[in-house]
Amino acid sequence: MDLRKELPQIFDEFAEARRNGFIAAKNLKEKNVPMVGTFCTYMPQELPLAFGAAVVSLCATSDETIQEAEADLPKNLCPLIKSSYGFGKTDKCPFFYFSDIVVGETTCDGKKKMYEYLGEFKDVHVMELPNSQATKEGFDLWKSEIIKLKGILEKKFDVEIKEEDIRKAIKLKNDERKALKNMYEIGKLNPPAMTGMDILKVLYGSTFKFDKNDTIKEVNELAQRVKKEYEQGRRLDPKPRIVVTGCPIGGVTEKVVKAIEENGAYVVAFENCMGAKAIDKLVDETNEDVYDALAEKYLSIGCSCMTPNPNRIDLLGRMIDEYQADGVIDVILQACHTYAVETLSIKRFVNGEKEIPYMSIETDYSQSDIGQLNTRMTAFIEML
Ligand code: SF4
Ligand code: SF4
Repeated sequence: MDLRKELPQIFDEFAEARRNGFIAAKNLKEKNVPMVGTFCTYMPQELPLAFGAAVVSLCATSDETIQEAEADLPKNLCPLIKSSYGFGKTDKCPFFYFSDIVVGETTCDGKKKMYEYLGEFKDVHVMELPNSQATKEGFDLWKSEIIKLKGILEKKFDVEIKEEDIRKAIKLKNDERKALKNMYEIGKLNPPAMTGMDILKVLYGSTFKFDKNDTIKEVNELAQRVKKEYEQGRRLDPKPRIVVTGCPIGGVTEKVVKAIEENGAYVVAFENCMGAKAIDKLVDETNEDVYDALAEKYLSIGCSCMTPNPNRIDLLGRMIDEYQADGVIDVILQACHTYAVETLSIKRFVNGEKEIPYMSIETDYSQSDIGQLNTRMTAFIEML
């Protein structure tokens, strides 16, 4: 068996999951399966999963509709927001088209204001997310918003969301998180067993697979296979090891990962929303109050829209140690003020406390900065 040839094919199948998901979504709609669209990691997916709905990520990752979006929104807005709005406006995203309701949260200012316009052509519900994780008032607000969302979904789809079904959904989502974590933690191996691009393909692709049990099985089998082949000697060459943090990446922003890996280093871990930020912490299955358990998990997400935001530092610090990082790259999407402002504290932490090099890069959804990305990555990696 040609081991090197077969694993890349499996990774590529994950990369194709978004496109294949269009047909899967259509099939689900033909069977009248409710579909809930989300834009953010804060959305408690367990609630729609509890009554058998499909959940799909609508965060758009290409520049295809940005021009259309700019007819309504300011040009100097984060590309993720413009692209997401543009796909909704132009109906070019089948996932958006098939979503019966879109659930957003009051995260960053641009996103929450964009939802007001999105609501003109789609059923949108916005959850009120507190600005801080540190207060009881914030926790109580978020818990009440989760309970409110349950009511909104029950009314919209004429269903009853039972507590026992939420428990089952919590277990299922946790099993998915464990499978993905088990896969991406292979990045701790030194020398690495897989590239950052391969890890990203699985993380990104699995968000577009609707059958969670299948996804768990596939990801577990893949991880087992990668580990086995590693033991048999299938290893990558030792190179500097990078942890990526910052804004969500995937789709066109894979260009950053490519620029790192084509210029002499490997991405061994992703701290951002496509990676550990969403997956690292499980929902407590032993908590008697399912809403407390959900509020606790989701409110602890270390997003820069929180102030203060110690959980990002905690997770990043752990990852730097566990993945033996030689450097950290902080990816900032253009005009993302919260992540841009936070670069200073992340730089201080990485340089000062962890004593390894740090670089932040600002990018958008165009291809115009690829030359510049390559130049900056080469200089950074040479320094490691
Ligand atoms: S970075 Fe923050 S706002 Fe963006 S998807 Fe993640 S949690 Fe949501
Ligand atoms: S990348 Fe930044 S500006 Fe864009 S949606 Fe996320 S938090 Fe908001």
